[in-house]
Amino acid sequence: MGKKYSESLEYKQKMIEKLIRPFCKVNKIIGMDEPYFYRNKVHAVVGGDRKGNIYAGTYEAGSHKIVPIDKCLLDNEKADAIIATVIKLMKSFKYRPYNEDTGRGFLRHILIRTAEVTGEIMVTLVVGENIFPSKSNFIKALTAEHPEITTIVMNVNSKRTSMVLGEKEETLYGKGYIEDILCGKRFRISSKSFYQVNHEQTEKLYNIAIGYAALTGKENVFDAYSGIGTIGICASDNALSVTGVELNRDAVKDALTNCKLNNLKNVKFMAGDAGEHMEKEAASGRKYDVVFMDPPRSGSSLKFINSVCKMAPSKVVYISCGPESLARDLQLFKKKGYRVVECQPVDMFGWTGHVECVVLLTKVQK
Ligand code: SAH
Repeated sequence: MGKKYSESLEYKQKMIEKLIRPFCKVNKIIGMDEPYFYRNKVHAVVGGDRKGNIYAGTYEAGSHKIVPIDKCLLDNEKADAIIATVIKLMKSFKYRPYNEDTGRGFLRHILIRTAEVTGEIMVTLVVGENIFPSKSNFIKALTAEHPEITTIVMNVNSKRTSMVLGEKEETLYGKGYIEDILCGKRFRISSKSFYQVNHEQTEKLYNIAIGYAALTGKENVFDAYSGIGTIGICASDNALSVTGVELNRDAVKDALTNCKLNNLKNVKFMAGDAGEHMEKEAASGRKYDVVFMDPPRSGSSLKFINSVCKMAPSKVVYISCGPESLARDLQLFKKKGYRVVECQPVDMFGWTGHVECVVLLTKVQK
């Protein structure tokens, strides 16, 4: 681990301590063993200029200007190589990059997802219209150069928005999804579902979160903001039951498949807003012993936190990628009778400004 990397960890540690120290002790941040090429999800915007050059890049911060990028030290190296090949092939197939101003052109985005353990690779090509000229020749050419690709999906996004993916999808090659193994469990990942970008650090993060829950096999566990079900499924061997809720229906479908893949009978997932769902369950008198929550960067909702506190689980394990919203939500839990026990930062996004934290909260006994 280089000096610069350890300095970046120190910086992150200070940032978390400033926000979370008022609530509890903050453990030393867990860094990566090898902080490069860790991103298993790589996104490139396809752009071009008047001279007919085509390039892959990223949006400039806060704008829609595309900055060309060939290689990134954080990305999976195979993913960057595949993106370069797609751009090269676009030239020989005379494909034009999509232009957001005119709504014309063909290819908008390239998304690559790589599975760390199984080695499977999914390429999602986001196009402006539901047509793919010379489809089979293009797929043949791409997979000939990259036989490691296991599936190719076409996603149609005709809207002029900054949202990357559209609704409609068609599998062009392979099974349409990839599978990976995390904490010994198998997971199906489809193009639209959320999956943690850093495999090594995710396992560390989940082990801490599950360790905080200290399950004995008798607990009814809730997994809120469950994505494709990873936390709940990884915790399920030591729980009586696991119930998960997630807004994204594609992710819920994956989560249900993942229960079957791992032959689990004590786990179920539902689609819905976490706050609405918890409010209903709390009103019906349902109780959980442990609640895992892993909301997006903006944090959880008042509705969700109030309903959880009404159910009074003995432990809440809060996983957060937004330290500011975490501090705000911890304040709410504190007011409602929870003790903030400890916080463990994990460096999931090395070299970026982001930090992931796991926080243990316990119910104060009256
Ligand atoms: N626990 C999962 C996913 C965490 S990412 C994992 O570790 O992989 C956060 C998830 O919250 C995303 O899947 C997102 O779709 C979902 N989400 C966002 N807002 C939500 C809401 N209001 N209710 C339920 N889920 C929501």
